[in-house]
Amino acid sequence: MVDPTIKCLKVRSPRGATVTEIDWGDGHTGIYPHEVLRGYCPCAGCQGHSGSIRFIECHGAQLELDGIEPVGNYALALKWFDGHSTGLYSYRYLRSLCHCGQCQPNGAKNERPERPRM
Ligand SMILES: [Zn+2]
Ligand SMILES: [Zn+2]
Repeated sequence: MVDPTIKCLKVRSPRGATVTEIDWGDGHTGIYPHEVLRGYCPCAGCQGHSGSIRFIECHGAQLELDGIEPVGNYALALKWFDGHSTGLYSYRYLRSLCHCGQCQPNGAKNERPERPRM
């Protein structure tokens, strides 16, 4: 059985939005500011191949989502307006990135710790 906390039911990312929302199988609504999604892009081009995932500051078209494609039933591929499309975000990773008030209770908006690969 699939763990409902990493089951992606619905993605809401209206064109021009700065935040994407994901409804998860356990009823949780994930909140993903694009600055966070792009900044923590897990692809090798952004992160190299080793270690944890660090936050990379991005601006302008880099933060505009052009498309979201499900990959298998375990990840989303995000395409950005600057043409970057190699980021593959596993549902487990996305779940850990959630920036809702419940998941990031300290609201430490300016803290961007390194994150484990998932
Ligand atoms: Zn990347
Ligand atoms: Zn959350």
